[in-house]
Amino acid sequence: MSKEFPLVSVLNVPFINTTQAAFLTTIESHINNRENTFVVTANPEIVMYARNNPNYQQILNNADYITPDGIGILKGAAILGTPMAERITGYDTMLDLLKWGNDQHKSVYLIGAKPEVITDVKNVVTTRYPNLNIAGIHDGYFDDFAPIAQDISKTQPDMVFLAVGFPKQEQLIADYRHQNNGLWMGVGGSFDVLSGHTKRAPKFFQNHHLEWFYRLLSEPTRLKRMMVLPRYLKTVKQSARTNK
Ligand code: UDP
Repeated sequence: MSKEFPLVSVLNVPFINTTQAAFLTTIESHINNRENTFVVTANPEIVMYARNNPNYQQILNNADYITPDGIGILKGAAILGTPMAERITGYDTMLDLLKWGNDQHKSVYLIGAKPEVITDVKNVVTTRYPNLNIAGIHDGYFDDFAPIAQDISKTQPDMVFLAVGFPKQEQLIADYRHQNNGLWMGVGGSFDVLSGHTKRAPKFFQNHHLEWFYRLLSEPTRLKRMMVLPRYLKTVKQSARTNK
């Protein structure tokens, strides 16, 4: 776990408390030094899942950095009396690193999402980031990750972005990260957004901390997954009372 940044624990998940800019500088230096780095961008759903899954909690404990992705984490930290600086989302971090990687002529390996989505991701990345070397690219519907890991091991990319959703992406990273000393980061539904298959919430929703509400409106099937949010807030409040 990170030693560079102060940590804020939300229901036993240790988040780094810093800015997006400071975090990026640190990650870039790890990539330049070819250091094996595992980043988890966690939201309340992940925190609640870890509570019931000791194996996943263990994976989180072994990550190098856990960032607060989602306003619910900042809210939770504030309730616990340990407010955090800002949200560090997987999507924004990935975009910043793709841009930086393009400037620095780095290489990237992209795995995840449906075949038609990853094809569009490839087009977007080659057009927008022409100096970024795509070491490999694969959709997220594979039976066995071992051959992909073997290719990663062969090509030794600077950054690996895995977009197959949690908990699978973190489990795979934990299992295979030793095969390449680069950045490994799970980015959930980011490829759907990058390719334009899913729209990110307009700025208004983002600025008013209503991104979750926009997602619910555009994908009502997410309601079941979002039901965890009230339970999360209740658990945080209970924890705040007990720790007083
Ligand atoms: N996905 C995948 N392989 C699977 C299951 C899911 O590649 O076996 C992809 C799915 O197509 C989507 C992403 O993983 O692009 C998960 O997106 P979601 O919005 O659920 O992720 P979140 O950011 O909410 O964790």
